[in-house]
Amino acid sequence: MTLNTDWAVRWIKGSAAVVSEHRVELITLDREIGDGDHGENLDRGFSAVLPKLDDLPADATPGDALKLVATTLISTVGGAAGPLYGTAYLKAAGAVAGHAELDGEAVVAMLTAARDGIVLRGKAEAGDKTMVDAWTPAVDAASSALADGLGEAAILDAAATAAEAGARATEPLVARKGRASYLGERAIGHRDPGAQSSALLLRVAADAAAG
Ligand code: ADP
Ligand code: MG
Ligand code: MG
Repeated sequence: MTLNTDWAVRWIKGSAAVVSEHRVELITLDREIGDGDHGENLDRGFSAVLPKLDDLPADATPGDALKLVATTLISTVGGAAGPLYGTAYLKAAGAVAGHAELDGEAVVAMLTAARDGIVLRGKAEAGDKTMVDAWTPAVDAASSALADGLGEAAILDAAATAAEAGARATEPLVARKGRASYLGERAIGHRDPGAQSSALLLRVAADAAAG
């Protein structure tokens, strides 16, 4: 399936649905090592995006749709995740600006820019038990898939699968950024909520491309 604006809109609508379905799961994860609001924050943010999609002009690009997500998340989500995801979507939008359709290289550029935006904003490194631990393996897997000659949908699928593994791999870690870092070793055994939500969002991107 072509990664055009219809795809971006399916991704965004699917993201709102998945964040709503997984609201309690994300709240529970954040209650264990944070303040218990991650699911609510994201649900509020993506719900606020939905009505705005109707205002996208007919000639809107995927980047325009991603920019709408960015500005809405920045103004509605708050906490750590609002500015982090807001920056991710803003940088992703910039990386694909002007493209009516994304090819494999554009997909990798989009994912890389999103991850780099999160790192720029939050200064977390791999292994700090944050959403970066989902995004960095996703970017690496997407780059490998592109180098292997795979198409856009397969690149997104590889990214989502790597993000899911990355989110699981946060469980044994001690956190060095965010609220969970206050817990020291008590964070061990709990999955990072932002890494989990990142994996969910990337899976929706892949599903929207396969659809
Ligand atoms: P808050 O912690 O302000 O309540 P959320 O609960 O919405 O915000 O988001 C928490 C998530 O944000 C964490 O699970 C983690 O993935 C991510 N996070 C927190 N700080 C950072 C950081 N400095 N860099 C990257 N991600 C971070
Ligand atoms: Mg929280
Ligand atoms: Mg909070």
